Amino acid sequence: MSESVEDAQTVSDAEWRSRLSPEEYHVLREKGTDPAFQGQYTHPGAQGLYRCAACGYELFLSDTQFDSGSGWPSFTAPVDAGHVETDEDRSLGPVRTEVMCSRCGGHLGHVFDDGPDPTGQRWCINSTSIKLDPKAPD
Ligand code: FE
Repeated sequence: MSESVEDAQTVSDAEWRSRLSPEEYHVLREKGTDPAFQGQYTHPGAQGLYRCAACGYELFLSDTQFDSGSGWPSFTAPVDAGHVETDEDRSLGPVRTEVMCSRCGGHLGHVFDDGPDPTGQRWCINSTSIKLDPKAPD
């Protein structure tokens, strides 16, 4: 959880397999998806900062989480636009926008344009890809 940006981007596949649980490896490194409504952060409630489960990067604040009814934790915005990367995902019919951790490249989920104010965005994130740090940043 303490490696530099460069370190996180050069972690080998074998190293990720040893660092992550099988579930984390599948979602973060193989772009898997948590079953709907079964992730531990599906509904808002906990307070703090969600970090990347693979590299610890700061990703989403609990203040931006809302209950989308989708079955996955949903946020109106990342904590910092530079902490996430997006890419076009054509793997399932309609084109979607994939969201990744910008530090380690780990798969987080997708972002859609049907979210609430203030951004109108719905960042639909797998619980497996994030870990709540109860200490909110100052
Ligand atoms: Fe990461």
